[in-house]
Amino acid sequence: MQKKRIFILGGGISGLSLAYYLAKRKDLYEIHLIEKNERPGGWIDSDDSTGFFFEKGPRVFRSSKSKEFLSLAAEIGMDKELVGCSPHAKKRYLWREGKLRQAPILSWGLIKGVLRDLTVKPKIGQDESVWEFACRRFNAQVARDVFDPLVTGIYGGSMREISISLGFPQFKALEEKYGSVIKGFFKMPRYRGPRLFSFQRGMKSFIKKLEECTPIHFHYGEEITSIQSQEEGFELKTSQNIYEADYLFSALPCHVIGRLLLPQLLHISLQGTTLVHLGYHKKVLKKKGFGYLVGSQEKEDILGVVFDSNAFSSFNRLPQETRLTVMLKSDDLSDGEARDLAIKALRKHLKIKEQPDVSMVLSAPKVFPQLKVGHDKILKEVEAVTQQKYPRLKLVGNYFYGVGVNDCIARAKSVSEIFLRETAS
Ligand SMILES: Cc1cc2nc3c(=O)[nH]c(=O)nc-3n(C[C@H](O)[C@H](O)[C@H](O)COP(=O)(O)OP(=O)(O)OC[C@H]3O[C@@H](n4cnc5c(N)ncnc54)[C@H](O)[C@@H]3O)c2cc1C
Repeated sequence: MQKKRIFILGGGISGLSLAYYLAKRKDLYEIHLIEKNERPGGWIDSDDSTGFFFEKGPRVFRSSKSKEFLSLAAEIGMDKELVGCSPHAKKRYLWREGKLRQAPILSWGLIKGVLRDLTVKPKIGQDESVWEFACRRFNAQVARDVFDPLVTGIYGGSMREISISLGFPQFKALEEKYGSVIKGFFKMPRYRGPRLFSFQRGMKSFIKKLEECTPIHFHYGEEITSIQSQEEGFELKTSQNIYEADYLFSALPCHVIGRLLLPQLLHISLQGTTLVHLGYHKKVLKKKGFGYLVGSQEKEDILGVVFDSNAFSSFNRLPQETRLTVMLKSDDLSDGEARDLAIKALRKHLKIKEQPDVSMVLSAPKVFPQLKVGHDKILKEVEAVTQQKYPRLKLVGNYFYGVGVNDCIARAKSVSEIFLRETAS
C-alpha cells in the first residue's frame, strides 16, 4: 500500500518536534518538512561568529516547567549535555522608579498582599486578566512588582490584557487546587535538580541532534507561498516546487498560516522586540545575577537585560569577558539606532561607560503571540473551521497554550499522539 504523505510546514521547535514524534510511525507515512530558512530551529539559534557566544532566541528553561522538553532531550540523548545556571542567576532585578532593585522588592504592600492571598476565596473556572487576578488575590502593588515583570519578560505585553488562565495557567491552577497561590506554592511537589537549564554547547546543538534523530525528508530554503484545499488533501506551492499532501500540519507562526489559509488567526495580536547582543573583552558589569526587567510604567526604551556572562558563565570564552543581551521595546529600528539605545540604557541603569567590542542586532517582529483574555474564543473558532473545512489539517505552534519551548513541544507531542491514534490503527 502506498504511504500517505504528510507535510509539516515550518521547522521551528514546533515543527521539528512534531516531525520527530510523527516519524515514530514512518512505516506508515512519508513525512516531509518545509522550512524557508536553510536550517531548522526557527527562533532557536546559537552564534559564536563574533568570538562571543550568544543565544539569539531562547536560552534558559525552568526545569519544573519543562517536563516534555526534558523528556525529549532524554529520548535523543541530550540529557547528558544539560547544564545548570551559575548560582548567581538566582538574583534578579527590577528597574522601578529610577532605581535597580533586587526582586522581589520587599515592602509592606508585598507582605499585605501575601497575607490577603491566604484568605481570599478562589474563583473557579473563570478567566480574567493577570492584573485583575493579581489585584483580586494580592493587591495592586504585588501586581506591579511581581506580575508585571513576568508579563514583560515572557510576552513583552500588558498584564491588563494577558489572560491568567492561558498566559500563566500555573497560578490559576494553584488557586483552584489549593485555594491560595502562596499555600499552593509551598504544597506543590518540588522539582529536584538544577532550577534552570540549558545545553553545554548551546541550543543549536539540541536542534542539530533532534534533526539527526528525525528520519524524514527535509526541504530547506523553500518558502510556502500558497495552500489549496483539495477533496482528499492539499496542494502546496513553495518558492521552488508544487507538492500534493494527504495531511498537512502547520507549525508556521500564526500570522503566516493566517495569511495563507486561516484568516481567523489574524485576530491574534503579536508583540515584537529588537535584541542587541553586546560583548566586552573585560569585566564591565558590577552586578551579579540573571539580569533585570523594566516595569511597564517606566518610560524606558528597553524591556530588560540578560547578564549572559553571569548566568551562563560556562559559555564564556575568556574568564574576564562580559556578555549582555538587551531587549528593546521597539521592533522597528535600524541596527545603529538599536545599538545606541541599548548602550544608552546600560549606561543609565548599570553605569557601564565602556563601548562594547562586538555587537549583534536582531530584529524580532511579531514574535510573541499575546494570549489575551478571549484568546480561547479565537482558538475555538479556528478549531471549528478546521474541523469543518479542513479536517486533514492540524495546527501546532506557540499561539496555543503558551509561548515557551516546553509548551511548543507539549502541543506537538499531544497533536501527533491524537493523530496517530486516530489514523494509524
Ligand atoms: C528572543 C526570544 C527569546 C525567547 N526566550 C525564551 C526562553 O528563554 N524560554 C522559552 O521557553 N521560550 C523562549 N522564547 C519563546 C520560544 O522560543 C518560541 O515561542 C518558540 O521557539 C516558537 O517556536 P515555533 O516553532 O512555534 O515558531 P518559530 O520558531 O517561529 O518557527 C516557525 C518556522 O516557520 C518558518 N516559516 C515562516 N514562514 C514560512 C513560510 N512561508 N514557509 C516556510 N517556512 C516558514 C520560520 O522560518 C520558522 O523556522 C523566546 C522567543 C524569542 C523570540
